[in-house]
Amino acid sequence: MKKKLQGKIALITGASGGFGKSLALSLAKEGCDLILIYKRNIEQMRILEKKLKLLEIKFDIIKADVSKMSQITKILKYIRKKKKIDILINNAGINKVTDFEKINSKDWDNIMNVNLKSAFFLTQEVFKIMKKNKFGRIVNISSGAALYHGPRTAHYAISKAGLISMTKLIARFGAPYNILCNAIAPGIIETNLTKKEIRGSGGKNYIDMTLLKRFGRISDVVSSVLFLISGDQNYMTGDVMNITGGAYLG
Ligand code: NAD
Repeated sequence: MKKKLQGKIALITGASGGFGKSLALSLAKEGCDLILIYKRNIEQMRILEKKLKLLEIKFDIIKADVSKMSQITKILKYIRKKKKIDILINNAGINKVTDFEKINSKDWDNIMNVNLKSAFFLTQEVFKIMKKNKFGRIVNISSGAALYHGPRTAHYAISKAGLISMTKLIARFGAPYNILCNAIAPGIIETNLTKKEIRGSGGKNYIDMTLLKRFGRISDVVSSVLFLISGDQNYMTGDVMNITGGAYLG
């Protein structure tokens, strides 16, 4: 049976993280070749590399810190040499839970650079390739924080709201070229990013807010992304999938 992503090439940022690793493996299992970008967790990347080698796909791994424009430029140079990238998943992200009145400009810049600026410039470059090939599927990993305005993480929420705005713009620019762009907005899912929050009062407060009264699972995120890119749907663009367990309805 033909795999759903056979012959496709996907670029995934934040590949060493909780979502990134699972996304990479799931896409690879569907036959997708991969370009993986990560900053740290070399051990995690090695484990992932071993697993990917068992699958019949090609993959490249690039180490880059996307909080720095010079490192983003390094990735852009690599992308410019490519003739084909079918799927882009802007997944790299950081958070630093801080009260609004204590957010400083260093943290603001860091969060905006990783969560929004890097996604913008990578998308701009990949878009040119997708436009030539008249095919593209872009998924931006936003956050429930952008929808329900989590009060203890204003800079993060604003960066993720920016990604939603970008999603709608790229959907507009991409539509004539069969480039679909959507975002997903997960609530709290257990990964490195949320470990502290889950253990603290933030975790309990979040569960109280949800209709489903639990945290989300990585598999909920991965299956949503696969739905958006695997060809099962080709009419959704410029939209946001809310994977928050009904958090902002609760
Ligand atoms: P994670 O911390 O496990 O992974 C984050 C990834 O981003 C890592 O691979 C890390 O290396 C990469 N990254 C961080 N800073 C970087 C930098 N300067 N340069 C290059 N890469 C960098 O977190 P995760 O939970 O897997 O999060 C993945 C995405 O999902 C993030 O954008 C996050 O904001 C978003 N998200 C997560 C949750 C959640 O509950 N876990 C909820 C909503 C949205």
